[in-house]
Amino acid sequence: MTHNTPKPNIIFILVDALRASNLGSFGYPKPITPTLDKLATRGTTFEKCFSCTNASDPALTSLMSGMYTRSHGILHHSYEVAQKEINTMDQRNVKFIQQILKEHGYNTYALDFLARWHMRGYDYYPELKIDRTKRKKQLNRISRFFKFLHIKPLFKKISHTNTFRKIFGGFDAYPKDTDTTVKAVELIQTSTKDNKQPYFLFVHYWGVHKPYTCPDVENKRSTQCYDNAIETVDKHIAEILDAANEQDIIVVVGDHAESLGEHGISFDHHGLYDPSLHVPLIFAGKNIPEGKRINALSCTTDIFSTLLDLAHITYNAKTDSVSLVPLMQDKVQEVRKEVYTEENYYQDKAAIRTTNHKFIKTIGQGICQQCHIVHGGDIELYDLTQDPQELNNIAQKHPDVVKEYSEKIDILIQ
Ligand SMILES: [Zn+2]
Ligand SMILES: [Zn+2]
Repeated sequence: MTHNTPKPNIIFILVDALRASNLGSFGYPKPITPTLDKLATRGTTFEKCFSCTNASDPALTSLMSGMYTRSHGILHHSYEVAQKEINTMDQRNVKFIQQILKEHGYNTYALDFLARWHMRGYDYYPELKIDRTKRKKQLNRISRFFKFLHIKPLFKKISHTNTFRKIFGGFDAYPKDTDTTVKAVELIQTSTKDNKQPYFLFVHYWGVHKPYTCPDVENKRSTQCYDNAIETVDKHIAEILDAANEQDIIVVVGDHAESLGEHGISFDHHGLYDPSLHVPLIFAGKNIPEGKRINALSCTTDIFSTLLDLAHITYNAKTDSVSLVPLMQDKVQEVRKEVYTEENYYQDKAAIRTTNHKFIKTIGQGICQQCHIVHGGDIELYDLTQDPQELNNIAQKHPDVVKEYSEKIDILIQ
């Protein structure tokens, strides 16, 4: 393809904490995702996409840079992201997809609220009701005080309560999904009318992230509430798709997934088991095969290279991303052997996910600061062909396999 090929508009829809298994197109029996299921029939679904981390700040950084957390340097989340991590990212010249697209003539818009470094490279980024940098400093100070009293885990717990958020400006201060949709439709319509430059629109929905947005469901920590939130976001996505052109590239993904009780992790996304990592990944639009389903392994970082590929942009810097286009075109059977994933919020663990295996290793804080237990032990190995729910730890029976994966992780985290 030549560089003169017209560049497609790209609409990147991120549904925070959306797990794959609760979509109809992934076999969920409740009909809560008619829009996403329809999108799957007019596009290509990646059935085995896993996130490379499970907290929003590092996950978004990975999505936009195509790099694992260890590669870009943002390991932590929220107020725990140290300036040092941001400096590391800058020293490594990490570039986000919106910055690259902008250099290639795209108008770039984000409907996001994570702010700070996530704002880079956009022509439009909403004004937030709170200053996230200032809030981060405040929270850091309070967190240090709790640490001084040796009750830091308690701080993490209360920082997720609605009362705390009211006082310190938590998610309530972020835009509502309804407003996000209105603005998204407006941006699409204005850009389509101008029609001079292609656009990249990043839309971040928050309703499926805890506390789930389900006004009519009483128990906010329930699968019913989670499903209700998904159903609402699905309707928002319908409005965006209605406004968009059939030829526009659409991608829908979760930055991480959500555990609904599996492995003792309830209505949260920590842990490196599949329920917290397995996300739906759907592409649709120009040159994307219709109704195709791909079972090969993919990672959320791969969206980066796939979108650049679809926009005919060559980018040679080293990333942890590989284009999924050859899979869509049946040119290859697989693009990666494994996904590396890591968490550094309630516990410090790293994992390697292959088609057949999950290996999880404790690399720091082993006791979960939310549940006050060690989930699954310090070393875990699961044979996913026999045990897809990761219930039978076979690490002791296979020291050779454990050694191989363990050494791989040691190299990655040094
Ligand atoms: Zn998230
Ligand atoms: Zn836990």
